[in-house]
Amino acid sequence: MKIARIEAFQLRWDPQDRPAAGSAFLRVWTDDGLCGLGEASPMQGGIASLGILTRDIAPAVIGADPLDHAVIQDRLLHRLVKLGPEGALTGALAALDIALWDLKGKYLSQPVYKLLGGAWRTALPFYSSIGGNGARSVDEVLRVVEQRLRDQPAAIKIRFDNDRSMLDNDIAGDLAKARAVRKLVGPDFPLAFDANNGFSLSGAMRVGRALEELGYWWFEEPVQHYHVRQLGELARRLDITVSAGEQSYTLSAVAELIDAGVRMVQPDIIKMGGITGLQRCVALALAHGVELVPHQTQPTIGHQANMHVAAAQLHATKPCELNDPSPRMHAVFTDPPVPKDGLFHLPDTPGLGLSMVETEVAQRQVALAA
Ligand code: CA
Repeated sequence: MKIARIEAFQLRWDPQDRPAAGSAFLRVWTDDGLCGLGEASPMQGGIASLGILTRDIAPAVIGADPLDHAVIQDRLLHRLVKLGPEGALTGALAALDIALWDLKGKYLSQPVYKLLGGAWRTALPFYSSIGGNGARSVDEVLRVVEQRLRDQPAAIKIRFDNDRSMLDNDIAGDLAKARAVRKLVGPDFPLAFDANNGFSLSGAMRVGRALEELGYWWFEEPVQHYHVRQLGELARRLDITVSAGEQSYTLSAVAELIDAGVRMVQPDIIKMGGITGLQRCVALALAHGVELVPHQTQPTIGHQANMHVAAAQLHATKPCELNDPSPRMHAVFTDPPVPKDGLFHLPDTPGLGLSMVETEVAQRQVALAA
């Protein structure tokens, strides 16, 4: 089996939508006609990663054996490192790795979780990840939370998504929302607070103490992601679990968070490493007794790839992330992941267990500048 062709493309979430709002997908075809599906981080439409896949990665992998995916990834990371080992390049390599695992599963007629060593669970609980709460009123936050509770999530995370260039913008307002949500869901329902890098160290301490009083489960990215030592300091000083890692693009970066004191890390399968990279993070976290709870906000390929890893993970201590609901891209797949009674059920079909609808792909594909 050899890689014959790779196709990196952006699909609009809505056929009429502006091109910037889309998913960055990859299809890898083999000489015997198998097709593997991958996805890169859609930041800025994923255009930078798609360009690297088309211009730099495709010529290097045509003719390669998909089963050599780990060697391919490490070779290309080192060869292309000066394109920037954080972000666009790692997103591109993640898409490639996921597609090659999908191919491996199809070639061997096994679901990916079997190839990872087997599943501890194939019915996976999820938490609703609700963005944009910084801009909402308390009442608007409550209405959105009520709506999402109908999906039967195992937990809810409220994200604030404030302007990252402004710190401690409205601590009193943020806490009023956190308090109101706690009151709405009752004392026992699991809640998480995602600051999206919005606080100073002292602001984060203040918020963290309040969240402890309110019984929140974890406190995500309280300060800027690049303040690794501050994240560690907060994790050591606060009782609430402090988490970070969605902006860590290498195994070493995740190790630095752990070294600093962070005890819950959140690497993202489509931003760094793909399935191979996330598996390495799982091992690193396991060795240090640290929780690994992946960040993952894309609803189809990224979500499904992430769930295969979560299925095979020994300690999956928190539910899988399910981002703001949107049927975006679901029409593009014959069998998109959709929860039933509060659980995602992983299929036992070969590979990731997803297939694309060609007419939808054609209708939504965005022409990228050469
Ligand atoms: Ca986050």
